[in-house]
Amino acid sequence: MALKILFCASEATPFAKTGGLADVAGSLPEALAALGCDVRLLLPLYPTVERSENAAKILAEWIPIPVGIHTYHVHFWQWRRPSSYPVYFVEKDEFFHRPNLYVHPVRGDYEDNAQRFITFSRAVYALCKHLEWIPDVLHLHDWQTACAAAYRHFLWRYDPAFSHVRTLLTIHNLAHQGLFPEPYFTLTGLPQEAYTIDGMEFYGQCNFLKAGIAYSHRISTVSPRYAREILEPKQGFGLDGILRRRQDDLVGILNGIDVERWDPSHDPLIPAPFDVERLEGKKVCKDHVMQELGFPEAVKDDPLCVVVSRLVHQKGIDLILDALDDMMDLSVCLAVLGTGDPHLEKLLGQAQSRHPDRVRVVLAFDDALAHRLEAGGDLFLMPSRYEPCGLNQMYSMRYGTLPIVSATGGLDDSVVDAAQNPQTGTGFKFYEHTREAFLGALKTALEVYRNAPQWRDMQRRAMSEDFSWGRAARSYLTLYEDMVSGSR
Ligand code: ADP
Repeated sequence: MALKILFCASEATPFAKTGGLADVAGSLPEALAALGCDVRLLLPLYPTVERSENAAKILAEWIPIPVGIHTYHVHFWQWRRPSSYPVYFVEKDEFFHRPNLYVHPVRGDYEDNAQRFITFSRAVYALCKHLEWIPDVLHLHDWQTACAAAYRHFLWRYDPAFSHVRTLLTIHNLAHQGLFPEPYFTLTGLPQEAYTIDGMEFYGQCNFLKAGIAYSHRISTVSPRYAREILEPKQGFGLDGILRRRQDDLVGILNGIDVERWDPSHDPLIPAPFDVERLEGKKVCKDHVMQELGFPEAVKDDPLCVVVSRLVHQKGIDLILDALDDMMDLSVCLAVLGTGDPHLEKLLGQAQSRHPDRVRVVLAFDDALAHRLEAGGDLFLMPSRYEPCGLNQMYSMRYGTLPIVSATGGLDDSVVDAAQNPQTGTGFKFYEHTREAFLGALKTALEVYRNAPQWRDMQRRAMSEDFSWGRAARSYLTLYEDMVSGSR
């Protein structure tokens, strides 16, 4: 019988996206379905999901969900358009019909995020009962759904139909934990014994992600190296202690990417196709994007470094800014696409003003431009301080845009450093998070760039790497089977 897997996530492509979690929750179920799993996905019903008759239908109405002293009533919906696996939604417009998923544009995190995601997490059980479809594995993602592991542990398992259900929590970014003041604990409806140092209590606060870490059968992260890094205080964000206690149940599985949407030979968003055999189209893409961004003719043959990123401390954008003058001395061009921290946005704007011939900054979220930059760039810069997995370095390798990355998390796992492995290298790494180390990697990259045959070889190797979800899905399937059979 097919293994039954229920994905519970707060975002998934193509329905709602703020980051890499959406790519995983949208793509991995499809790859698991292709391996024969009966996989289904549960999401909140956001305004981005079409509710018309032929798009989604109501499955059940006025389902009561207790949250503290309140009972909220939710409706369940099911997606009707063709998809390779069923998708369900929890409708509670008071909570989810908002322009942003988690934050108010001015006031920051929504004040009722705890209520919103407790409601969503508790609705999991109600949906399964309604469908009379009980999963073998409840696959939870990040703090927004982590409490469901505690519900299974303290409440749901006493239902004989649910007692066999195993929970897996995938941590996409340990920095986001769902931290709320202590009184919020009463909203969870969990017994007091869940609020201990071994449970969800965290320095006098209520930590949703910690509940997931404490009460899931297994924990995974999105790359093997990140799974090791979060056991150390430096990257453990205060949770390294409990993670070390659960170390035997923790694994890292490198994310895949959507190799159809990110395919330079069939990408409708780029001006010319290219592939590993025929790279001529890549030059067309470079000329096009440089012209589009208004780089002067005189620099159009210089190496183009690109960045597509949230502009936040984690991503190490400040390192690029620090190194900018030296980069310019090396005659490279830089194109940055991103949004985020207003301070970094301002500094990037100033960088463009200081180097109007060689720096272009586009402060926007623009998927089509992201594709054109991946296709047109020579080098992709990703100097992250930490990176649970990272997707852009994999997109860039697929587009023959060789990545320069800090040797951390998924960047370290997915890129082979050409400086250390000249025959097998697919990118360039630096090992200290310093301006000098970053510039060292850039100089190495530029030496290879000037040796055309060597550069082509490296591009071909990078473009031939298998980053498909099929590989990741096989690892998840093995993990699910282990969980269900009770072996480790
Ligand atoms: P994170 O999830 O930490 O933001 P990832 O590299 O895992 O980083 O995923 C980021 C995703 O968001 C990628 O698909 C990337 O292309 C996309 N992205 C980030 N910023 C932008 C932007 N400004 N415009 C278009 N796409 C973006």
